[in-house]
Amino acid sequence: MIEEVLPALFRIEIPLPGSPLKSINSYVIRAPDRNLIVDTGLNRKECLEAMQAGLRELGVDLKETDFFITHMHADHFGLVGRLVTDTSTVYFNRLDAEVFEAGGWSGWDAMIEYAGRSGFPEEELRAALHNHPGYKYGSEGVPRLTILEDGETFVRGDYRFECVQTPGHTRGHMCLYEPAKKILLCGDHILHDITPNIQCWSDKENPLEDYLASLDKVYQLEVDLALPGHRSLFRNYRERIEELKRHHRERADEVLAVLGGGPQNAFQVASQMTWDIIEESWGRFPIAQKWFATGEAIAHLRYLEERGKIFRTGEGKAITYSVHPDAVHS
Ligand SMILES: [Zn+2]
Repeated sequence: MIEEVLPALFRIEIPLPGSPLKSINSYVIRAPDRNLIVDTGLNRKECLEAMQAGLRELGVDLKETDFFITHMHADHFGLVGRLVTDTSTVYFNRLDAEVFEAGGWSGWDAMIEYAGRSGFPEEELRAALHNHPGYKYGSEGVPRLTILEDGETFVRGDYRFECVQTPGHTRGHMCLYEPAKKILLCGDHILHDITPNIQCWSDKENPLEDYLASLDKVYQLEVDLALPGHRSLFRNYRERIEELKRHHRERADEVLAVLGGGPQNAFQVASQMTWDIIEESWGRFPIAQKWFATGEAIAHLRYLEERGKIFRTGEGKAITYSVHPDAVHS
């Protein structure tokens, strides 16, 4: 499905088969000099076909097209390697690029080790990994990337885009702001119909803290229309940011309440949180959903830990958390 959002700015809806996200929004700016495609889809046949059909309909020649990818996740980045031509520039952020440079898949080993320490059952770990779309449908080789820094600007046709770094959903996530048109291409930083997933798989990071700071950072932008990476475009920009902040405060309080029952690891905490999923019990959750849920529980646990609301207990490598006696609210 193709929609002209603004003059020369189009949205192609790329299907994500089997994913609860359903589809990804790829934005195409048609310009006399070079076209720009923002985000691409997974590296799989269904995405490639939808993209090619859309570009054909728009008369976009990939030889005259560059790319901007908001973040490293496979549903945004995975297909770009199949679309680039010899003349394409792929714009990307430094921190996510460093993850690719560090060897890509080697990062999975550290994640798996951390998931094990967080109580994720050993036998389910490999299954979770092999079902992970980032593992199955990631880019085959990373194309040459041109790094853009926070605050840098570039022009495409009538659009002058400003890069806004918004760490949280990933370490280097970047949005594109067009101040004259009052639009924000927000990737997975702000979504309207679903809550962006904030995950943590490391003791060195505190992505929820980063995410909330990034929400505050973009709150002051004048935005009439937000163009997110998934689902519907929206106009109630500041209201949505406030909703997301409220959501995470409530989630953090929920985690504190769960921990009120005694020391627990992240997997146990996740199993008692409320999830927006049809399965009636945690035991019946698909493994991939348990993975995302545990990652999200860890993001809230790390946030509460850094705020001094909870602390680690237990022995050895296993990570177990307890509530600080005087912690009441997040
Ligand atoms: Zn994402």
